[in-house]
Amino acid sequence: MYRGVLERYGHWLDLPAYTQVVTLLEGNTPLIPMPRLGREVGCELFVKFEGVNPTGSFKDRGMTAAISEAAGRGVQTVICASTGNTAASAAAYAARAGMRAIVLIPEGKVAVGKLAGALAYGAEVIQVQGSFDAALSLVVEITQKTPITLVNSINPYRIEGQKTAAFEICDTLGRAPDWLCLPVGNAGNITSYWAGFRQYQKGQPRLLGVQAEGAAPLVYGHPIEHPETIATAIRIGKPARGEQALAAIQESQGKLLAVSDEAILQAQRLLASEGLWVEPASAAGFAGLLAESQRPDFPMRGKTVVVVCTGHGLKDPAIIAEHFASPRCIPAEYDALVEAVLRP
Ligand SMILES: *Cc1c(COP(=O)(O)O)cnc(C)c1O
Repeated sequence: MYRGVLERYGHWLDLPAYTQVVTLLEGNTPLIPMPRLGREVGCELFVKFEGVNPTGSFKDRGMTAAISEAAGRGVQTVICASTGNTAASAAAYAARAGMRAIVLIPEGKVAVGKLAGALAYGAEVIQVQGSFDAALSLVVEITQKTPITLVNSINPYRIEGQKTAAFEICDTLGRAPDWLCLPVGNAGNITSYWAGFRQYQKGQPRLLGVQAEGAAPLVYGHPIEHPETIATAIRIGKPARGEQALAAIQESQGKLLAVSDEAILQAQRLLASEGLWVEPASAAGFAGLLAESQRPDFPMRGKTVVVVCTGHGLKDPAIIAEHFASPRCIPAEYDALVEAVLRP
């Protein structure tokens, strides 16, 4: 029986001996072949679909590690700042461990499915009149001055847990892919993947890190005071692990780029056209791959490419209502149905 990422890969992770495993059987997510889009783009394409984790995003991999370490220390309260998915994940794992969870979110900027998750698991949700970055500074300060434990990806155990996605990809493919494409927000995930691939020694992919144009501090080389993008999970102007992300991209001989919100929505549509509905931020990695595929020197042609889809489409249903066609309405009459079906 599968028992979660810590049972499966714990011996690869740098976790203290006192760690007490708190799990919701996260991880073990599918690596889904995308033959149609792969053919169109010109590579052997797979999606690592992290949306099927227990709370709907990859955050659960790191959260099981952070909460398990905290449980082993007898921690009673954890806190995080979040664009949404960390909040839902922290709330769930804290609930599982019987801890109090406090989550700070930027006011009005969190997708409805994420806020609902945090509330449903019983976290104390506090909206901050400011950005994610401002909320993160606040939680860092309170955890320095009180016994409350920080579970943002500054917490090193988050990074340890998130390495397991790289291990899984290598175990499924038998080796690392040639390229790995993923969204970059606070930059914990790209840091974790790179550490994971290096440690596992099944080859190293080149990394394509993708930010949203309105929230691309690493691309532009300076913090963004007021980050803006529909991809709320990567709406971050001052990434905590920015330096490490840049180092990883450079060491891997990879690339970092920014894509427009329009390109992100288009990537979301295309993934859905082959059966995968992911939240906007999750489509950014694929949007980056699409942008690259337009270049004459497209380096992924014929290569094995894994696109990490970080969170489920169900997290952000409002985006669909806003940007996709809404359903027609007909009278409850057969003729009207025929009319609608024959003249779509
Ligand atoms: C957190 C998150 C990201 C960004 O990951 P970082 O580790 O902050 O770079 C991307 N997509 C989704 C769905 C997320 O929840």
